[in-house]
Order: sequence, then C-alpha cells, then structure tokens
Amino acid sequence: RSKDAGGGVFHAYEPQLHLQAEERRVLEMALRSALEKDELHLMYQPVVDAGTGSLTGFEALLRWTHPTLGPVSPAKFIPLAEEARLIAPIGEWVLRTACHEAAGWKSYSRVAVNVSAEQLHNPGFVAVVANALATSGLSADRLELEVTESVFLREGTGATQTLERLLDLGIRLSLDDFGTGYSSLGYLSRTRFSTIKIDRSFVTGAARGVKEAIAIIRAVVALAQSLDMTTTAEGVETEEEHMLIKTLGCSKVQGYYFGRPLPVEEARGLTDSVGEQVRAA
Ligand code: C2E
Ligand code: MG
Ligand code: MG
Ligand code: MG
Repeated sequence: RSKDAGGGVFHAYEPQLHLQAEERRVLEMALRSALEKDELHLMYQPVVDAGTGSLTGFEALLRWTHPTLGPVSPAKFIPLAEEARLIAPIGEWVLRTACHEAAGWKSYSRVAVNVSAEQLHNPGFVAVVANALATSGLSADRLELEVTESVFLREGTGATQTLERLLDLGIRLSLDDFGTGYSSLGYLSRTRFSTIKIDRSFVTGAARGVKEAIAIIRAVVALAQSLDMTTTAEGVETEEEHMLIKTLGCSKVQGYYFGRPLPVEEARGLTDSVGEQVRAA
C-alpha cells in the first residue's frame, strides 16, 4: 500500500499488525515451555441426558495459565499450537491427563477429549491413545474423542483410516461443532461416529426463533437417528434453550445452564451422582 494513498489509514493500521505479530511471538515462545513449567490443566464440563437431566460424563477442556500473562483462551492458543507444531506434545499430555484423571472417577462416566486435525494426521497418534488407555487403566469405552469436520478437508491423508484404527481400540468418536465447517455428508456414512455435537450457534439461533436454525437442528437430529447416532446440543445457557432442545429431540446437552467447566476434584465429586439429576429436566 502506498504511503501517499491516505497516510492516516496506513499509520493506524501498521501498529496493530505489529502488535498482533508481537503478541503471537510472545505467546508462541511462552507456549513452548508451558508443558515443562506445568502451566496447563484440564477443566471438565458436565454432559447431561436431555430427557432426564442426569449426568453422562464430561468434556475435558484445556486451560493455560501463564504466570504473568494470566489465563490465555484455548481459542487463541490451540490454533497457535497447531501452527507452531506444538499440538502433538500438548495433545498427548491432554490425553494422558484426561485418561488418568477419569480413571479415578467413580461409576461409569465418560470423558470426551478434543483432538485437532493436526494430531490425527500424525502416524503415531493411534499408539499414543492406546498407550494413554493402557497406562491409566481407563477402559476404552469410557473414552470419547471429539473431532471436527476439518479432519476430512485434507484428501489423501488417511484421516478415515486413522479413525477406523481408533474405533478398533474400542473408543467412541463424536463430530464436534457440527454445521460450522464445510460439511460433505459422505464421511458420516464412512466413519462410525457415536454422536454429532450441534454447535452453540444453532442452539442460540433456535431459541431466538430463527426458523433456519430450528430446521437445521431438526434435520441433524433426524439424520443422526437414522444413522444410529446420538446428538449433543452445545452451549445450552438457559432453561428456555433446554426445553426447546429437548422438544427438538437432542439426546444430550452441555452448557452453562447445566454446569461450567469444573476443576477435576469437583468433577470427581459429581461422578458420585452419575445417573442422578444435575438439574431438574
Ligand atoms: P469445543 O470443543 O466446541 O468446546 C466447547 C466450548 O464452549 C468450550 O470453550 C466451553 O467452555 C464453551 N462452552 C460450554 N458451554 C457453554 C455455554 O453455555 N455458553 C458459552 N458461551 N460457551 C460454552 P473453551 O473451553 O474456551 O474451548 C474452546 C475450544 O478450544 C473448544 O471448543 C475446542 O475446539 C478447543 N479446545 C479446548 N481444549 C482443547 C484440547 O484439549 N485440545 C484441542 N485440540 N482443542 C481444545
Ligand atoms: Mg469439543
Ligand atoms: Mg464443540
Ligand atoms: Mg464449539
């Protein structure tokens, strides 16, 4: 861009770009040592049966607290970790920690772990999962891996085969943030997902009376039922949203209305009441 063509725009724009690049650089450097400095931990958000309100398990959500920068949002540092090739060691730590912590919970609650496309394209990933299960003693059917549609974007990288080998371990797969990516429904018939997670944007839209959002939820629920999959609605924040989601036929719900992500001790405390109501349904 020419400096003559509106210097004001140029100067207003440039420092911001610089700041972003600087922030990236600082965060990336800090992230490189976050694991060894013990700055990561997991929080667990309850997943609840939509009909009965009883607890079925938890989703593990990664948290990074830097000593001076404070808490950094995963929406910021996960993409950074993917680009900086740090997602493999961090993702392995998440899997080991989640399996280890969930193995100590009472009852038969499940734990869901988010997995990046980058991790799935690593040939050693299936062995990492098998090892996390073996080391922790968590039975495979209590582990669920959440992947997004983006894993199917890169053709010829063997994502489908990797998912097949993961299923052979006896774990479950769910399709996260459904409807937000570039969906080709073909992979739903190729890969055995247990659950489709309906993105929060549809839940919010439906509760505001957006006809298209309601139509999409209905269609996804019908599709899931005919493929023998269940549905989880993400980001349910109010009683009204819960009622609507239940009426639309979603099997499970997750969101602040049922519980924010909890520290592991509190999650473990809740597993004493697996099968009991988290909230009146
Ligand atoms: P996600 O897997 O779709 O997780 C759901 C996100 O929605 C979480 O944000 C959760 O805290 C938030 N959430 C749950 N209920 C509500 C609600 O009622 N209202 C609102 N407004 N938000 C709600 P979080 O923890 O910030 O994580 C953001 C994303 O970062 C996750 O989205 C996931 O894609 C990614 N992520 C988190 N942990 C990991 C991880 O261990 N590995 C990988 N690869 N990605 C992770
Ligand atoms: Mg998720
Ligand atoms: Mg999600
Ligand atoms: Mg989401």
